[in-house]
Amino acid sequence: MPRGETVPIHIDMDAYFASIEQRDFPVYRKKPLVVCHTNDASSVKGIVSTSSYEARKYGVRAAMSVLEAKHLCPRGIFIRGNYQKYLYNTKKIHKICLRFSDMVEIFSVDEFFIDVNRSAHLFSGELKIGLKLQNMIEEELGLSSSVGIGPNKLVAKMASEFKKPRGITIIEEDDLPDTFSPLPVDKLFGVGRKMKKHLEILGINTIGDLANTPEEILKKRFGVIGVALHQAAMGRDFSPVHNSFDLREAVKSFGHSSALGKGVSDIKELSRITLGLTEGITRRMREDRYVGRTITAKLHLARLFSISRSKSVKSFSHLTSDIFPIAKALLEKEQALIERYPVTTIGISVNNLIDIKKSHQLSIFDLLADRPNQLALTTDSIKNKFGEKSIFRASLLDWKRRYHSVPRLDITR
Ligand SMILES: [Mg+2]
Repeated sequence: MPRGETVPIHIDMDAYFASIEQRDFPVYRKKPLVVCHTNDASSVKGIVSTSSYEARKYGVRAAMSVLEAKHLCPRGIFIRGNYQKYLYNTKKIHKICLRFSDMVEIFSVDEFFIDVNRSAHLFSGELKIGLKLQNMIEEELGLSSSVGIGPNKLVAKMASEFKKPRGITIIEEDDLPDTFSPLPVDKLFGVGRKMKKHLEILGINTIGDLANTPEEILKKRFGVIGVALHQAAMGRDFSPVHNSFDLREAVKSFGHSSALGKGVSDIKELSRITLGLTEGITRRMREDRYVGRTITAKLHLARLFSISRSKSVKSFSHLTSDIFPIAKALLEKEQALIERYPVTTIGISVNNLIDIKKSHQLSIFDLLADRPNQLALTTDSIKNKFGEKSIFRASLLDWKRRYHSVPRLDITR
């Protein structure tokens, strides 16, 4: 493969959360196992985090409601995710990746980019590294993964999807048009269900159709996202592998919270507090030069339980005038609940961030963050359980210490 500025390898863990549980509990092996993300003990309101390959045969997929999954697969085993354990494994995989390069990006809880531009020659090339990584992860952690290698991050990421599980795929620059063109347009990273519909209206059904559509048309219709999509359809991507020094880097968000003693039920008072918190957040965002587009309100109610509500908007901002109205609306939606259960702790945060120092050329990775962010879900559940600051305070080494006991069994069926 010709040496560009980056030679990225993408690792995508196969059915990650479910595979970890099947590894730890032999009784789950070869069974349709569904790991759920839920704060609700009955799990009916939850969503599916990961399903084992056995459950996928029934059509159970990530981000589906638990209710729907139970309908499709009534004999499935439904368990609540043990996110600390998954993050602990993520950290282990990160360390294995670091044996081959010092440039490793934790892209999500189960995906990594490793830039081997400067180290491939030490290990007889990127394919050898890919194979070694796969073997080490399998031998040391008992988990299978799929590997993609390409001339840039976008292509490497799509390559890892080609053969799953346990696949390894290289897409060379020269093979790009032939490999990409015939694929349905939603196979392109960044094209979700909604975007697919918009594109179909324009007669764009394959990635090839998208690549052949004049950029001006896409720009007119979708703005900067249109341009990024057009570039992506041609397999062009210039985004660098961002070194994740630790998970803190990968899950960066700006947040403030406030404890409210015995609790506040008055929505106006809560609004005022939210404004204060938002001001603090946006000030820090502007200082650090970040813009974000997902706003989350976390409320601890009557010291009994917590709820977390998020909303993503189209445009990125670091202004109170943009962010506060959204935070306020999230709060107002819960008015009935708040009147019954006063808010004892309120936290506002902004994530889905772009570092405006770095964003000279926006790539598809910057612009399209609509897919469910499992890393965010994972850290959210830890925060829900251990408090807002837990993930920043607890180094992963602490978690290791804390994580000695056998994982709790939570069968919520
Ligand atoms: Mg995966």
